[in-house]
Amino acid sequence: MDQPDILVIGAGAAGLRAAYELSKAGKKVLVLEARTLTGGRIHTITGFAGDTYAELGAEFVHGKLPHTLGLLKEAGITYHKTGGEMWQAENGKLTQEDQFIEHWDTLMQKLNELEQDMSIGDFLDANFNGPQYHTMRESVIAFAEGFDTADISRASAFALRDEWQEEDFEAQYRIDKGYSALTDYLAAQIEQRGSTILTGTPVISIEWHAGQVTATANGKRYTASKLIVVVPVSILQLDSSHPDFISFSPEIIEQRAAMQKLGMGAVLKILLAFSEPIWRSEQVEQLAGRSLENASFFFSREAIPTWWTQHPVENGLLTGWLGGPKAAAMKDKTDEEILHIAIAALANIFQLAPSFIQERLVASHIANWTAQPYILGSYGYDTVESKQARELLSAPIGDTIYFAGESFHIGDMGLVEAALASGKETAQKILETK
Ligand SMILES: Cc1cc2nc3c(=O)[nH]c(=O)nc-3n(C[C@H](O)[C@H](O)[C@H](O)COP(=O)(O)OP(=O)(O)OC[C@H]3O[C@@H](n4cnc5c(N)ncnc54)[C@H](O)[C@@H]3O)c2cc1C
Repeated sequence: MDQPDILVIGAGAAGLRAAYELSKAGKKVLVLEARTLTGGRIHTITGFAGDTYAELGAEFVHGKLPHTLGLLKEAGITYHKTGGEMWQAENGKLTQEDQFIEHWDTLMQKLNELEQDMSIGDFLDANFNGPQYHTMRESVIAFAEGFDTADISRASAFALRDEWQEEDFEAQYRIDKGYSALTDYLAAQIEQRGSTILTGTPVISIEWHAGQVTATANGKRYTASKLIVVVPVSILQLDSSHPDFISFSPEIIEQRAAMQKLGMGAVLKILLAFSEPIWRSEQVEQLAGRSLENASFFFSREAIPTWWTQHPVENGLLTGWLGGPKAAAMKDKTDEEILHIAIAALANIFQLAPSFIQERLVASHIANWTAQPYILGSYGYDTVESKQARELLSAPIGDTIYFAGESFHIGDMGLVEAALASGKETAQKILETK
């Protein structure tokens, strides 16, 4: 390939979307990806448990999201609605989840009265310290840590308020053949249009001046007139002692400081494939008092608190989820240790002997994203300081360096939708400049 017009660092959803839009507009793009595969935090595995498609990263399309569904339609990729029943495991009992949380209305009212943003942790301490609020506090923390994978001592009360207010319980979807079908489609389109994606190519340094940028990876230098940096924000928050650090020359001091103000969560996702759906065993259905044919989610207070099935697809796959600081605290454990903790959690949730679970386990996969090189986290969340920082980071540096990715997008933050939108918007910005 001759010198490309634009370099893109990172071949996740955002980097691929940007490269796709730019190559569609006739630009020559070179995408440099550190890992040996494209997709980033989208990673579908097959052959893991029979003919099941299993997601190590993104799994759900959270509603009728235009960028995601638009691309799926264009690519002819099919998807299906999820749904099913939510169950709660507590004190050795299994009951269908009651969506009602006492004092939730008071919580929302106080959040609406709040004039100055603060962390949700400080907000709870200031307003809901009494014992009567214990259960509601636990629910708030479980949402912030579980869904947003956030640290409550940093997560913005305003951002969570907006998220909970907009919660509309829309239908969610899974992609029939996995999320990777979407990023594979983008990658194929990019290459068909004469642009290039190099995997196994970790960029370690960027030299730049207005109108020219050179990235170094694997001892080679790649030059173009513009650069889009689409790596997880956790990579841009590293200091120079970390092996995944990317240096800039000249340094981008203001932008580095702004990066520290963005929140990046932690997550542990555990895939367990069983020879049969263990939650449908006689003992568990007796505990539930009825059939668990339609069970989709199981919530608990166990070390791995949340589990889900593939409902409505019937198979023996159970997925465990731990988000937030507790996931960060477990990032250095071995897969074996994590598996042991996961089985103990399931044994308590379903009141089954660990040996019963172990005997039916045919395969397991621990997706420890917080420890995964070149990713080092889950997805972004808003801190009290995020808004201003994101404004600064949305401006290109010298019309030459652009930042994109899920963390840089306003709205649907953390989701694939945000990554796709951010990639497209950044490409448009570049196409609009001379
Ligand atoms: C466990 C998990 C579950 C999730 N579930 C959902 C879900 O159900 N629904 C949903 O919408 N979203 C979900 N998400 C979030 C979603 O996956 C991300 O928001 C989205 O995929 C991020 O895309 P991105 O392009 O911004 O970043 P990434 O996909 O992280 O892409 C960045 C790329 O940069 C590369 N890179 C890093 N450093 C370098 C370097 N030095 N040189 C070259 N390349 C480099 C990385 O290898 C990576 O491929 C989930 C995420 C995780 C981790």
